[in-house]
Amino acid sequence: MQITKDSVVSIHYTLTDNAGTVLDTSVGNAPLVYLHGHGNLIPGMETGLENRVAGEKLNLKIAPENGYGKRMEEFVQKVPMSAFNGQDVKVGMQFEAGSQEQRYVVHVVEVNETEVTVDGNHPLAGVELNFDVEVIAVRSATADEIAHGHVHGEGGHHH
Ligand code: ZN
Repeated sequence: MQITKDSVVSIHYTLTDNAGTVLDTSVGNAPLVYLHGHGNLIPGMETGLENRVAGEKLNLKIAPENGYGKRMEEFVQKVPMSAFNGQDVKVGMQFEAGSQEQRYVVHVVEVNETEVTVDGNHPLAGVELNFDVEVIAVRSATADEIAHGHVHGEGGHHH
């Protein structure tokens, strides 16, 4: 069967940047299983997988707008060191920020004696993505899965 809205799809994927560096891969692990058409994958992946069938291999080149978004320089902010309550803040550390309703992760990109610079962009924002994808399996979702918007079992969520 073809991949359409409400298909449960199993894929193996390898993600590289334009320099050929592998950023992420499912190879060697269980395939990624997701419910198609519910925004569970980045838009470029869902569009590229539409109407494909099990056994197909594809190369998807995905622009940032259809991936993790463009880099937003206003997401880079300086925070006074005093806000970290004496923690030993180092470059590369991650913190949760935002409000109760909307949490997001920021990465520490620079530290000096008085200020910490944090970046709230997704690490892959602004990056053109190259996905090698193999479609492993396609099945219809159950009514429960469609109602929840995600896959149950097979590496999906259980609840
Ligand atoms: Zn569920």
